[in-house]
Amino acid sequence: MSEPISHSRRDALKQFVMLCGAAGALRSAQAAELPHLAPTDPTAQALAYHDDAKTVDAKQFSTYQPGQTCSTCLQLQGNAGDAWRPCNIFAGKLVNANGWCKVWVKKA
Ligand code: SF4
Repeated sequence: MSEPISHSRRDALKQFVMLCGAAGALRSAQAAELPHLAPTDPTAQALAYHDDAKTVDAKQFSTYQPGQTCSTCLQLQGNAGDAWRPCNIFAGKLVNANGWCKVWVKKA
């Protein structure tokens, strides 16, 4: 049988959960303030970033397969459903969830 959680432990647990929620909200707010990655950015150009995967020329970029977008990439961070989200590859910028670049890796 498990031992009942004491009031002080329960209060501490509640505070911990609230702090985690606040930290997550703060991270989301900070991410929302980041600038959008422009396809003309030198790093974006080097990795063939497109902010709309539908505009990728499959003949020019042979690794591109229809259906690949940032939203299905392992490198995308942030909240599912957000139009612009942080990416591990482009630190300090937000990429379009419908975008694509040469580093695309299928999310597990
Ligand atoms: S690494 Fe993935 S999430 Fe980041 S820009 Fe490229 S395709 Fe999009």
